[in-house]
Amino acid sequence: MKRIYKKSLAIVLALVTVLNMAGCALKPGTPQESGEPQVSGEPQVSGEPQASGEPQVSGEPQVSGEPGESGSLFGTEYASWVNSDIQEWVKQIGEADARDDFHLHVNRDWMVSTTIPDGYSSYDPITERALQVDSQLMDILENPEKETDPELIHDQELVQKYYTMWLDWDARNKLDVSALKELLDPLMKVQSLDELTDYLSMPRTVISATELAQCDVSMDWNNADYYAVYVAPVDLIFGDSMYYGYMEESDALAEPYYNEVIRHILVKLGYSDEEATEVLKSCFAFEKDISDYIMTTEEESARDAVEKENNPRTLEQLEAEAGDFPIRKILEAYGAENSDNYILLQPDWLAAMDVLYDEDYVEHLRDYLICYTVQDYATLLDRETYDIYYKVINGISGAVGTKSDQKSATEAVDDFLPSQLGRLYSDKYVSDETQKEVADITKEIMDEYRIMLSEETFLTEDTRKEAIRKLDSLALRIAKPGKWEDDSELNFAGSKEGGNLISAQDEVGAFWVKRMQSRINQKVDRDLWTSRVQQVNAFYDPSQNSITLCGGILGGSLYNPDMSREELFANVGDTIAHEISHAFDTTGCQFDEKGNLRNWWTQQDQTAFAARADKLAAYYDNIEPFMDVNCVGSQIEGEAIADLVAMKILLRIAGKDKNFDYDKFFRAFAQTWRTITTARSEFYALSQDTHPLPYLRVNCVVQQFDEFYETFGVKKGDGMYLAPEDRLEVW
Ligand SMILES: [Zn+2]
Repeated sequence: MKRIYKKSLAIVLALVTVLNMAGCALKPGTPQESGEPQVSGEPQVSGEPQASGEPQVSGEPQVSGEPGESGSLFGTEYASWVNSDIQEWVKQIGEADARDDFHLHVNRDWMVSTTIPDGYSSYDPITERALQVDSQLMDILENPEKETDPELIHDQELVQKYYTMWLDWDARNKLDVSALKELLDPLMKVQSLDELTDYLSMPRTVISATELAQCDVSMDWNNADYYAVYVAPVDLIFGDSMYYGYMEESDALAEPYYNEVIRHILVKLGYSDEEATEVLKSCFAFEKDISDYIMTTEEESARDAVEKENNPRTLEQLEAEAGDFPIRKILEAYGAENSDNYILLQPDWLAAMDVLYDEDYVEHLRDYLICYTVQDYATLLDRETYDIYYKVINGISGAVGTKSDQKSATEAVDDFLPSQLGRLYSDKYVSDETQKEVADITKEIMDEYRIMLSEETFLTEDTRKEAIRKLDSLALRIAKPGKWEDDSELNFAGSKEGGNLISAQDEVGAFWVKRMQSRINQKVDRDLWTSRVQQVNAFYDPSQNSITLCGGILGGSLYNPDMSREELFANVGDTIAHEISHAFDTTGCQFDEKGNLRNWWTQQDQTAFAARADKLAAYYDNIEPFMDVNCVGSQIEGEAIADLVAMKILLRIAGKDKNFDYDKFFRAFAQTWRTITTARSEFYALSQDTHPLPYLRVNCVVQQFDEFYETFGVKKGDGMYLAPEDRLEVW
């Protein structure tokens, strides 16, 4: 099957934040979703799909052949399921039998009768729950309780200050872009390489603006008990470096994100329209040049990605590789010049920076920094800019309607003060009973994993033992942390003290940079969470060998204590089993029980595992969610393996229960993945998300298991039928 989608994507480009990517997303080492605010780094966004050469992303689903007919133009090699995540398409097709398209059969009524909420481009149980959590967070901010605990009093003060400032449009309009102008002033004056180096060496650049190298302190891949400093490339405005291979200057300039959002702010900063065009062109020139040396999303999710990214260095070695590029000065600005261990994620990028850091190239570097910083602040300026930003973002994602200001302000507080809002949330909404019940289910699932691993015939005994040791060392982070990091020193000026959203960024950013510095060369405290409690998500973190089920995901239709066992299994049970399996997937198996990057597999076992994973990747490669546009098995194999083994574990446990209601379980499972989305949003997910598309997370999973065939009487010729020899089994 062809994989022509790469070419088409050159035109489609990325759209990031507005899309809700459900499911775990952790990639080892890349700075994780942490309890810390993102000091810089608003979404990279981009533009609209255009007509020619692009796969069909809207209009009628073109289905050829009857369900079950092989070789359909659209569906899979084995079955002709229509992509039933796209509401527009579902409305045009009728009901389906459980034996032909299980996902559509269970979810069609819901999919045709549900509406995507204002300001969103998709809707699913995760989004439904996220909206509930948002309301809870908004309630915390709108109706602050009188706290008595000193930590909560402090949290309450900070979140209130920021929330109030965010909503104070009079003050924001009056300030306009003056605070941003003051931040960028030293950069806008840069004319020479020396001046640029001086600018990059300023601590404020690191704290509040964009740097030419990113630095993060995280668990050392090579010694998981200690922290290391990770040095990473810059982010690109259009996200995936792959796009730049196909994009020309005129494409970039025509993108609404470039042309409307960034240009608008540049003009407000004092550039004429012509000058703004020159700055945008010059920025794009740097992005295009450097993109050749930055890994694509597909490369970053490949099996060998961590191996390629694990490049331990000393500062002297970094300096030697960076040549003219002042990496030492940038690390000094971060206060990260004394680390015993650095990990250079992408050596090709650093070598390229040596070449580009040249007197003749200064303006491109400067203009990239201006544009990137400008877009980072687009939501923190005046009302007009904010409205332009959201109009463009909605245009990109296909979202309609707008979020209320209170909701947007809540999201802004959540981004900026995640630990503080999280502690208030945890105190009010995450109960000890929930924590205990979910911990019990987790233990039950781990026990079954232990049995499954011990029975695994394709592994040699040593590898089996290592796998069980890894399972037994798994750190469980369920519902809420037992320990919070001291943040009593964190503070910033509110509007009464003359502060504004940008000065708050300076003060809070400085606190977190200092916190980051304090970890250098220190032992990792494994009791600390690296993710937000209030998040509706769950993860496996290979660098700590831990699973985290955030408090946010444990509620609504995803979890409640009155659920039947079948429903619990289909929801939280599936999530737990999925996350644990990441300890043993193609990335997870490269890390040992402590989180060290250490291969504990024999060559023979690795080969056997790779053969199973290859079969799985090839199976997904054969699926066509859009006409002539296939899934990329290698991009999603880690998540697809996790989906598969989660189902296997749950069915093994179910098999021990005589009264287990499989019909109820499979239906509840299909419901957890029901999604309605715009074609545009779905297309983006296909190209960028490392998870299979939602309808495939149902159909591709259940069709691998005998229990499904038995429960629904699936036979050869049915759309859900997969010949036994074609079925997948990784674990
Ligand atoms: Zn996952």
